[in-house]
Amino acid sequence: MRLTVVGAGPAYSDVVGAVGACYLVRSGPHAIALDLGHGAFAGLAARIPPEQLDAIVISHLHPDHFVDLVPLRHYLWYHLSPAARVRVDAHRDLADRLDALHAEPGFTARALDVVPLEPGVRDIGPFSVQAARVTHTGDSFGFRVSEGSGGGLVYSGDVGRAADLAPLVRPGDTLLVEVSFGPGPVPPGAAHLDGPAVGAFASEAGAGRVLLTHLLMGRDRPATIQAVKDRFPGPVELVEPGFDTWI
Ligand SMILES: [Zn+2]
Ligand SMILES: [Zn+2]
Repeated sequence: MRLTVVGAGPAYSDVVGAVGACYLVRSGPHAIALDLGHGAFAGLAARIPPEQLDAIVISHLHPDHFVDLVPLRHYLWYHLSPAARVRVDAHRDLADRLDALHAEPGFTARALDVVPLEPGVRDIGPFSVQAARVTHTGDSFGFRVSEGSGGGLVYSGDVGRAADLAPLVRPGDTLLVEVSFGPGPVPPGAAHLDGPAVGAFASEAGAGRVLLTHLLMGRDRPATIQAVKDRFPGPVELVEPGFDTWI
């Protein structure tokens, strides 16, 4: 599987070109996207005709993770002739949220086939996608994506307790994990992670390597990576849009 980071942003940023979460996973002619946050549609469409995606899997209903389903919907409905559809695995309330944004019942259903997320394993094309509930907002999910007996990519979404990811991680997996609060600490009540929490968890879980993402605006990048490296012996990188690797 090939992972391409389309967007690695948090909810807001002062970095020009920063976009919300979106991670493209490809294998041969097959592809899924994990999240489609604000501004991510262009970067996705530049890499793959979006109608060719097997599915888009949405971790939770915060705009930095799903709101570019709106331009996707417009593209599918207005740009393509005939119009096309894309499967979206997401919280069951997704269609209501998008319909409400446009005050238009049926807005979502015109172009998106929403498949409600539940914990467990689902097959999407050649990919096996395991979903687990994580502590963040409402129904939030983390995922493990794998193909055949190969190693897995575990994507945290946004998560307030690293241990919630434990059911997903197998030894040697690549952990693509949010590190919102950088070197730390995480303020009380904020359902996100920091470097020390990520490093300790990655070490305990036996992850093969750690890809850090979703760093909040103004946080120190080298100190964030170091906080993870202090606790995890494997490779650690802080990813950006355009980051590309084999899993
Ligand atoms: Zn987020
Ligand atoms: Zn969130």
